[in-house]
Amino acid sequence: MNYKLLDGKETSKQIKEEIAEEVKQIISKGGKRPHLAAILVGNDGASETYVAHKVKACEQVGFKSSLIRFEDTITEDELISKIKEINLDEDIDGLIVQLPVPKHISEEKIIETVSPEKDVDGFHPINIGRMTLGMNAFVSATPQGIIDLIQRYNIKTSGKHCVVIGRSNIVGKPVSILLSQKSNTGNATVTLCHSRTTNLKEICKQADIVIAAIGKQGFVTEDMIKEGAVVIDVGIHRVKSDKTKTGWKLKGDVDFEKVAPKCTYITPVPGGVGPMTIVSLLKNTLIAAKKK
Ligand code: NAP
Repeated sequence: MNYKLLDGKETSKQIKEEIAEEVKQIISKGGKRPHLAAILVGNDGASETYVAHKVKACEQVGFKSSLIRFEDTITEDELISKIKEINLDEDIDGLIVQLPVPKHISEEKIIETVSPEKDVDGFHPINIGRMTLGMNAFVSATPQGIIDLIQRYNIKTSGKHCVVIGRSNIVGKPVSILLSQKSNTGNATVTLCHSRTTNLKEICKQADIVIAAIGKQGFVTEDMIKEGAVVIDVGIHRVKSDKTKTGWKLKGDVDFEKVAPKCTYITPVPGGVGPMTIVSLLKNTLIAAKKK
């Protein structure tokens, strides 16, 4: 089968241009520049990279961004009081705390301290609750990015069987809710699979759309996919490679080379869901700024 790529890189570029245009309009009418604040605790390499990408994306669309850094010795109380201070800062529209935080700090408390109005990561229970009820809410970035990709490529979800593999709070669970929602990008029949699912292969083989968010490189193989399926790969894994200058390359949860020929559409890794995730964060920040 001649598969088509769900090009997250290109789609996210288009969306960024649309956001940049909207920012220009806001500024030309005397409005305030949207402002995203990011808190980074410690020096974890992956977190540093993610935050740097987010700050760069803010610059690309004309947002103001503030990166607030703390040593990993910061106490939970100190971090909470900084979040409360930002919650009250009129100039800041969106706030993200890069996760994970050090073990002595409760992730749950941090998530609950961020004001739901500034929670552009969509992690606060109020936003997750509202999203689940189909109300206006900040939807977390990766699930929203997946939905936007599906929408921009006009992939029909209504009446389709979607199999989501992985039930994490940040990817699998919310995307399964969004796909089953009574909406233009929902109305699917969704099966949510996890490590205790029996007959995973048989269930996947019935799927019109497979969303792989497992965290295991190359987990989804061609014998799990039916001809003509749409496959969306959320996984990101750094693997050694002697074919790149850096000595490594990125791979997903799907065995792309073998699975792609069976698909109508498939996301590449890199350049699929990853760039869409950052763009969703920008979209949420713009919404937060416009609400004011
Ligand atoms: P996670 O929290 O580790 O969750 C993994 C899920 O996969 C769990 O629900 C787990 O089941 C399930 N699972 C594990 N082994 C399985 C098996 N053998 N069969 C069926 N299900 C299995 O992972 P995550 O945070 O959702 O992330 C998933 C992947 O996406 C990772 O590679 C991550 O790096 C990547 N990611 C990418 C982006 C992006 O922007 N592209 C964003 C977020 C995450 P149990 O619940 O039963 O343990």
